[in-house]
Amino acid sequence: MRVAIAGAGLAGLACAKYLSDAGHIPMVVEARDVLGGKVAAWQDEDGDWYETGLHIFFGAYPNMLQLFAELGIEDRLQWKSHSMIFNRQEVPGTYSRFDFPDLPAPLNGVAAILGNNDMLTWPEKVTFGLGLVPAMLRGQQYVEDCDRYSWSEWLRLHRIPERVNDEVFVAMSKALNFINPDEISSTVVLTALNRFLQEKNGSRMAFLDGNPPERLCKPIVDHIEARGGSVELRAPLREIQLAEDGRVAGFRLGGLDGREGRVLEADAYVSALPVDPLKLLLPDPWRQDPFFSRLEGLRGVPVINLHLWFDRKLTDIDHLLFSRSPLLSVYADMSNTCREYADPDRSMLELVFAPASDWIGRPDEEIVAATMAELERLFPNHFGGDDPARLRKSHVVKTPLSVYKTVPGCQALRPSQATPVPNFFLAGDYTMQRYLASMEGAVLSGKLCAQAITG
Ligand SMILES: Cc1cc2nc3c(=O)[nH]c(=O)nc-3n(C[C@H](O)[C@H](O)[C@H](O)COP(=O)(O)OP(=O)(O)OC[C@H]3O[C@@H](n4cnc5c(N)ncnc54)[C@H](O)[C@@H]3O)c2cc1C
Repeated sequence: MRVAIAGAGLAGLACAKYLSDAGHIPMVVEARDVLGGKVAAWQDEDGDWYETGLHIFFGAYPNMLQLFAELGIEDRLQWKSHSMIFNRQEVPGTYSRFDFPDLPAPLNGVAAILGNNDMLTWPEKVTFGLGLVPAMLRGQQYVEDCDRYSWSEWLRLHRIPERVNDEVFVAMSKALNFINPDEISSTVVLTALNRFLQEKNGSRMAFLDGNPPERLCKPIVDHIEARGGSVELRAPLREIQLAEDGRVAGFRLGGLDGREGRVLEADAYVSALPVDPLKLLLPDPWRQDPFFSRLEGLRGVPVINLHLWFDRKLTDIDHLLFSRSPLLSVYADMSNTCREYADPDRSMLELVFAPASDWIGRPDEEIVAATMAELERLFPNHFGGDDPARLRKSHVVKTPLSVYKTVPGCQALRPSQATPVPNFFLAGDYTMQRYLASMEGAVLSGKLCAQAITG
């Protein structure tokens, strides 16, 4: 079977990979000149890479880890110590750690929480632990039912003090979906907590050893091409053409640089586009169908990813850091965490700037200046005094519509990979799978899509 797939993000590439494993011929067409979608990256004139997002792989990503194993590239994941490290708000420049000991789950998670006395008091830990009991006893159904509440509402329902939000969950909510606990669905936070507490290595984190297009996407493309499939860049889907019987007849592709556009015909068709561009391309007859009209309720959230190169080392921490700063989410010194970006003498901080709705339209210089002001609090030793650290250069990557915004009520809007149109399928992190909007969710959606196509 020949399958046309629009979008070479992780969902589209994973779908093509699993179709080619099953003996089919996937033909992937990607609008941009770079692989990876939200894991895309570019090299500047100095040869330094800058990325769409700072990306962390978790132990609780079974489908992603299996993909690495199937491609024979597991050594490209650089696993860090099993800890979560937060900047301390009350003592600038210091950190508070949750260290997970080598015990079975959930004991290692419980020990990590009980062992941290900087952030939560004992009564807060007990109230919070009791609040989680229904999630542990009633499992996923309870977690899904909680999609009615924002995380802040869920905490209030369980009489958990607002301070717990300030200490832990503002940082976690921004890391999970680039928004605050007042907005995020409690299903998202409970899903992450469940995975972290139920799997021994669920919260263990790894960094890729270099830029994602070459170190992760290229091996998937090589795998697809070796089995007769193809991946074409700069080939944007412009129109989903319908046959008289309502099935898809072809993907009309735009021609770039004076090239002629063309129609790609296949036995089955997949949109692996993000939900926002897909909504614009839906053929008119489909828009009345509740399956497709529900997509209107899903919308990408803005986020900004910054890269700051300094003239010296700011930290030797080889891990992800939760900034707990009002403007920033997580960050890492990539000169420590990532082999390809390593520098023994100078730091390169990669930082996620979120929530970004008030900033996405502002000039890069303003965003860098605001971030530098935050860094003075995060690294007081390096930015005070007579010889402050000097910013050598920066890159700012804005994504106005990134992963779908996981506000309450979204679970019911997420579509399955099979659609009412028999030869048209969906892949993408927003489609229904249990890993929400993440790399794992994208890979799993691609795998489920391939299964839906092959039956
Ligand atoms: C700043 C940031 C940080 C993140 N951090 C993490 C993290 O730490 N861990 C984690 O698991 N996840 C993280 N994510 C989320 C993760 O990147 C995404 O969930 C995942 O990559 C989405 O994959 P996808 O294939 O569903 O969509 P996308 O990656 O968006 O792929 C869609 C593809 O479709 C293409 N396309 C669009 N329109 C057309 C068209 N008309 N024709 C052809 N092609 C088209 C796009 O160019 C793109 O290549 C982060 C995301 C961001 C933005």
